[in-house]
Amino acid sequence: MMSGAAVTAIRQRAFASALAMGTLLALDVAGAAFAAEINVYSYRQEFLTKPFIERFERDTGTKVNTVFIRRGLLERLKAEGANSPADIVLTADEIRLHELAEHHLLRAITSPVLDRNIPRQYHGTGGLWYGLTTRARVIYFAKSRVAPEQLSTYEDLTDPKWRGRICTRSGYHIYQLSLLASLIAHNGEEAAETWLRGVKANLARRPQGNDRAQVRAIKEGVCDIALGNTYYMGLMKADPKQRVWADAVAIFFPNQEHRGAHVNISGVAVTRSAKNLAGAVKFVEYLSSEDAQRLYAEQNFEYPVKPGVPWHDEVASWGRFKADDKNLVEFARFQASAVKIVDRVGYDD
Ligand code: FE
Repeated sequence: MMSGAAVTAIRQRAFASALAMGTLLALDVAGAAFAAEINVYSYRQEFLTKPFIERFERDTGTKVNTVFIRRGLLERLKAEGANSPADIVLTADEIRLHELAEHHLLRAITSPVLDRNIPRQYHGTGGLWYGLTTRARVIYFAKSRVAPEQLSTYEDLTDPKWRGRICTRSGYHIYQLSLLASLIAHNGEEAAETWLRGVKANLARRPQGNDRAQVRAIKEGVCDIALGNTYYMGLMKADPKQRVWADAVAIFFPNQEHRGAHVNISGVAVTRSAKNLAGAVKFVEYLSSEDAQRLYAEQNFEYPVKPGVPWHDEVASWGRFKADDKNLVEFARFQASAVKIVDRVGYDD
């Protein structure tokens, strides 16, 4: 992890080399150097961000310094306060973005480019954050033991026909919480709790492991259906060891006759402490462009938010689907209620 001091050092080095090359002729030399770079805190891994960051640097001449963070982004931004070197935050999940917004760590930005490129349902309140790619949380089913006609909705997972046949990860994981929050938003808190109890009653084993571990469990015959994010299908197929797990399953998009499948996002936000606001806005706008959308989505088998941007062939092979179009803020605000439901149900016990 790079410290704030290290980021400043990079900034100074870039500044020094720019001076050496004689490229800074503006009167406000320090200001010009500042505008020439932006600092990013990223929860997203380097293999995902590298292609579009390199393209952005090449096209705009703006240097992007990235600090990759595994955990503690909220605490770090709080501790750094107004002195934070970060201009931009890149992360997955609307719950995380909403949390940063609730702690007043983000700065709302609006722009005609963002309004045009990013559908409204993926805008944080007032432009506090923006979704860049989506992933659906779908049903993975055993091709040899389940017919797609037997599947329909998330709600149907409580049907007794699935007794002892479902696998999921922990109910406290952010992916599960986001899905549960969507059920609260659509069906109410009581119905969501009843639903989670029903799913628990149908579990083949205690919730454990990550999304891919559920697919592996299907391959091994532990269960017949599981919940997972779509991009893991692409990631498993690309992995020589996991390919056999992926080959045992297919993806089913739930609630197609109703509200649509639950989707989550990876997104971007400008920090409240951003020093290079103009550069940060330019960067966010760039990420909504067709070029960046394609580069970013393809790396992780996700869906671009900008309508009309082509999908990766593997992603397209899962088929088109209807996505729940409720604004994601409507789900994020039920995070605390979702955690309490998981507690009350004792889902992970
Ligand atoms: Fe994931």
